[in-house]
Amino acid sequence: MDYSQAPDLKDFSDQVFSTLHAWFDGVNSLLESPNYEPVPAFSVTFDAEYDGVAYASGNRIVGSVNYYRTHQDDVGSMIHEMTHVIQKYNNCAGWLTEGIADWVRYYNFEPNRKPGKPGPDNHWTDGYGVSAYFLQWIQKLDEDRNMIYWANKDCREGTYNDDLWPRLTGSTLEQLWAAMQADGPI
Ligand SMILES: [Zn+2]
Repeated sequence: MDYSQAPDLKDFSDQVFSTLHAWFDGVNSLLESPNYEPVPAFSVTFDAEYDGVAYASGNRIVGSVNYYRTHQDDVGSMIHEMTHVIQKYNNCAGWLTEGIADWVRYYNFEPNRKPGKPGPDNHWTDGYGVSAYFLQWIQKLDEDRNMIYWANKDCREGTYNDDLWPRLTGSTLEQLWAAMQADGPI
């Protein structure tokens, strides 16, 4: 944890450290795949120059000093970034990478903040909460098949393509999306 650019973020940094430490093994288990080795360590740096919220690059997470000064309830965004560190995907669709990161966040870490059902203007390629909701809806079709396991495995091994979904569910993404929209909220 490096909060040297903002010593006032020490308490928040401590909270992020203990939260990520407590959840690291659990997120690795959620996203296990054959021969996957969890990273031995990663860093979190609070950057006073960065204008976004946070991002992950390799084994490094960068968070915005300005953002976290005023959003200290948003530890969940750090769970999202830690998920990227753990994903280590070789080839994946962008919406799926972001959807799985938010699926870990909202359906595991903070279920009290779950996203609502996507609206008619949304699309599964929106990523983030929209895709997380869609993935959870697909997951609940048959939890024994653990479809997120197969999506994560293919992304990490670099073999992902959209044909995965018909293989697992018998339906294309278009068909699954239409069925989700016709269904009630989960
Ligand atoms: Zn992300």
